[in-house]
Amino acid sequence: MQTAPLIDPFARPITYLRVSVTDRCDFRCTYCMAEHMQFLPKRDLLSLEELDRLCTAFIGLGVRKLRITGGEPLVRRDIMHFFRSISRHLGDGLDELTLTTNGSQLGRFAADLAAIGVRRVNVSLDTLDEAKFAEITRWGRLPQVMEGIAAAKAAGLRVKINAVALKGFNEDELFTLTDWCAAEGHDLTFIEVMPMGDIGGEDRLDQYWPLSDLRARLAERYTLIDLAERTGGPARYVRVAQSDQKIGFITPLTHNFCESCNRVRVTCTGELFMCLGQEDRADLRAPLRASPDDALLTDAIRAAIARKPKGHDFDYSRQSIAGQMTRHMSHTGG
Ligand code: SAM
Ligand code: SF4
Repeated sequence: MQTAPLIDPFARPITYLRVSVTDRCDFRCTYCMAEHMQFLPKRDLLSLEELDRLCTAFIGLGVRKLRITGGEPLVRRDIMHFFRSISRHLGDGLDELTLTTNGSQLGRFAADLAAIGVRRVNVSLDTLDEAKFAEITRWGRLPQVMEGIAAAKAAGLRVKINAVALKGFNEDELFTLTDWCAAEGHDLTFIEVMPMGDIGGEDRLDQYWPLSDLRARLAERYTLIDLAERTGGPARYVRVAQSDQKIGFITPLTHNFCESCNRVRVTCTGELFMCLGQEDRADLRAPLRASPDDALLTDAIRAAIARKPKGHDFDYSRQSIAGQMTRHMSHTGG
């Protein structure tokens, strides 16, 4: 095992890895994908064994939290095999193993996930209205996701709902969503829509609902108490005095919290992105495949972390989109 932890040029320790295990998905959310997406050829994907080796190398370098994402991670074939295997690090280097999912497959997998030591899941849910859900996800069915969320809760998993704030779409559900989460005991985080990838015909600026406005509207009804809690990401949290529920705001656009960033991302083809909002990347698949020994791989990881940038350049000001990324969120993993 390596000893020196990963520290980037801005003295930020890298302790959190997000891994996209597939670019495929059973939904086509309008802000995330075009309806007819070109997916990667299967041979380009890292195998589950390669993903395991890669995650294990990062854990050896000091990563303590692992989030599995996608695309939809739970549609990758045999994904539970991967979860079971990587869970061996829990309590032995790894503090937390978790995932971000659209919830469609949680009915099948929630109990197994809980059994191997997953404690929390993030489920993306932008609306509680069946027709609107079908509209925004194109291919999704709300009842299936609600069953998945119920299965997660029944299995003892803590659920955090992630809702993308979409102007003219879920503005009218702000309180419905908030109150439902409070009643169910789920945490809730709102996310500003980010300029990631060509989504075919949709206009980002039309979708953008600044969380400063969303928060002000919440504050008209509830007393929001700022929490000091930080996770090293772009989220800030409040507690609602009336219900004691926790609400997060992920505001990459209206605020920039890159200074405390502790995370990097790996795509399903083994590209390491040091920042979600920058193009620079490092290929880890070649060193991974070049030798069964991890020396080349860890060298490549260290070299990449040494050029982690200070932050992203997303900006929607002046009615134009700056810092737009050509890749989709499903590629890097949200
Ligand atoms: N399929 C899983 C899901 O939906 O949770 C995991 C991958 S998805 C890319 C991860 C998160 O990214 C979701 O919460 C989704 O709402 C969010 N997302 C996708 N595209 C986005 C965008 N352009 N701006 C902001 N969030 C986005
Ligand atoms: Fe799929 Fe998640 Fe993207 Fe929706 S946000 S299309 S569920 S990857």
